[in-house]
Amino acid sequence: MKKSLLVLALVLASFVVFGQSYSLGDTNHSGGIDVVDALLIAQAYVGLNPSNYYESEADVDCSGGIDIVDALLVAQYYVGLISSFPCQSTPPPGTTTTTTTSIGGGNIIARARGTMGGEKLEIQANGTTVGSFTMSTSYADYSASGSGTIRVVFTNDDQLENGMDIQVDYVDINGTRYQAEDQATNTAVYVNGACGGEYSEWLHCNGYIEFYTGEVTPPPTSTTTTSTGGGSCDGANGNVYLTFDDGPTGNTQSLCSSLTNAGACKATFFVIGQNMPGNSSAYKSAGFSVQNHSQTHSHMGSWGYQQVYNDLNQANSSIQNAGFPKPTVIRLPYLESSSTIQSVCSELGLQIISPSIDTQDWNGASTQSIINACNSLNAGGNPLMHENQSNTLAAITTIVQNLKNRGLGFRQY
Ligand code: ZN
Repeated sequence: MKKSLLVLALVLASFVVFGQSYSLGDTNHSGGIDVVDALLIAQAYVGLNPSNYYESEADVDCSGGIDIVDALLVAQYYVGLISSFPCQSTPPPGTTTTTTTSIGGGNIIARARGTMGGEKLEIQANGTTVGSFTMSTSYADYSASGSGTIRVVFTNDDQLENGMDIQVDYVDINGTRYQAEDQATNTAVYVNGACGGEYSEWLHCNGYIEFYTGEVTPPPTSTTTTSTGGGSCDGANGNVYLTFDDGPTGNTQSLCSSLTNAGACKATFFVIGQNMPGNSSAYKSAGFSVQNHSQTHSHMGSWGYQQVYNDLNQANSSIQNAGFPKPTVIRLPYLESSSTIQSVCSELGLQIISPSIDTQDWNGASTQSIINACNSLNAGGNPLMHENQSNTLAAITTIVQNLKNRGLGFRQY
């Protein structure tokens, strides 16, 4: 079965559809599910480390890992034998990676997911449990009714390093949205070798994130105080985060100049530690944020904790040795994640930044196509772009102008 699938896939792997949607099964973020996706899963399963492959979309049977069953299911989907994956509660596969299921009813909605499935989450109002839920691995909305101090509580942690964790996206209370990572009390995040901290959307240990009604907890100051960008370039309709991976490169100086000249006074560069300091002085003079994109840009999905830790910690050192503040955020190489990688990032205080859109510049997208992709950016969004792509460099002035024309401004992490 494995061999015939590979042969079939190789014969048919001749087209890629460009797009920005990340459906479950769309393992190369091509915008559609085809036999290439099945091939990539099969390659990953046998340890070939394929490029342009996103494991986050590969576990279509929610088994907690990828295997030949996932490849087979994707192939079956492609030829029309099935119309949805076991991971999806309702067909058809949509254009997002998450499902929305409102469970219960009330004025409190917690959007959350588990890393393994089976995690138990409670919503408490003034110390009383008003909702109990069991997590799936896809984001869903869990609702309850109550008032006062609202806590979202993780109750059945298995205390294994690679085991159950809960990621809380946000809580809506009486229609107001509170982002989990903006909350000052999180007794369940695992940082610096212990449970408990602040400003994190992760529940690694038994414990809770505390949310309030009637009072907005101030957002964290760490990310803004470490930003070195010049004055405000906020927009009337909100702000986007322009992000560029894989620097510094020979394009660094030109890219920084283009951004500054076009009026984007803030931008974030996710750099490869081993390429520092290189041309990084251009980031400094422009006042842009320099953040972690790992030391060696490796496929870390199968690495152990210490190996991942050493690489990401080394990248922090390379960045700091070049005279930049200690990174607070990371974009993972190839966007590949695992619970081990997530634990290391948590320990290092690195928030993982996933792109809101993929310009496909790494995949040969034209200058116009990159511009078009960025035209769909909304406030708070960040595009996946790479500074070593000449089409990205050619596109950036128009991208900035178009965003400004829409009343959008610029922030950096
Ligand atoms: Zn990269």
